[in-house]
Amino acid sequence: MIGQDLTKEEQRVMIRVPDAGIVRSEPERSEKEIVFETESLNVRYGSTQAVRDVSMRIAAGDITALIGPSGCGKSTLIRCFNRMNDLIPDAVVEGSVRYRSIDLYGSDVDPVEVRRRIGMVFQRPNPFPKSIFDNVAFGLRVHGMTDDLDDRVQAALKSAALWDEVKHDLKNSALALSGGQQQRLCIARAIAVEPDAILMDEPCSALDPIATARIEDLMQELKSRYTIVIVTHNMQQAARVSDMTAFLTAEVDEEKATRTGILVEYDRTQNRRDP
Ligand code: ADP
Repeated sequence: MIGQDLTKEEQRVMIRVPDAGIVRSEPERSEKEIVFETESLNVRYGSTQAVRDVSMRIAAGDITALIGPSGCGKSTLIRCFNRMNDLIPDAVVEGSVRYRSIDLYGSDVDPVEVRRRIGMVFQRPNPFPKSIFDNVAFGLRVHGMTDDLDDRVQAALKSAALWDEVKHDLKNSALALSGGQQQRLCIARAIAVEPDAILMDEPCSALDPIATARIEDLMQELKSRYTIVIVTHNMQQAARVSDMTAFLTAEVDEEKATRTGILVEYDRTQNRRDP
């Protein structure tokens, strides 16, 4: 796991951003603060251009859905918001990605701290082969947030709507949970380290409809505290859960036999919650 070898002092090295809590405590904002802003963002894998010229702003407290056909660069784009592409050897990110006005790719920015503030939940639930408790406590230990460990773990499990199902089994293996429970455990693990934003890359695609509905309900509960960006290939899901929708498509160059993701539309979602 990233950052496990860091000393306590290194872990304390913060990227210079104002306390994210200020924003979270203002549910009704006339003018929303901008959490993420990309400008002319280009991402390549070696010589393959995966995403071209994406400029977009994501506001605090919104759920923003990235939709579009397979291979149009949704996962590539969402990974730019917490520098997960750094972990892909061939990936080159050009243009700018700002998080609360800070250049996320600046040389003084600590990627480990970035990933604490901006958590990520993946397509397939990926609990560690450890107990339920240790899964949630993992990031807390990595980041030296071990005061009131039991309380922190409990609070994260409650926030992820999992506590009532696991409170008597905290020492049991996380791998014994159902897929939906494992995904909520991964959300609890992300929440435990007090992030500001949560990125979700197709979090329901491996889940059945009931487990999916629980995650979608959970997202609505979490949005008062976190800015959420979700990749989904499911238009209905985007309509159900999101405030904003960004539609990407793959531009095909038949001569060069290449496909490049571009942002074609980005606007408020017309969803079922609208009057
Ligand atoms: P989506 O999430 O919309 O399905 P991706 O971001 O996964 O799209 O992929 C966009 C393009 O980048 C695709 O052509 C894909 O093959 C390519 N790609 C994605 N990940 C990698 C990688 N690790 N190495 C090389 N190419 C990749």
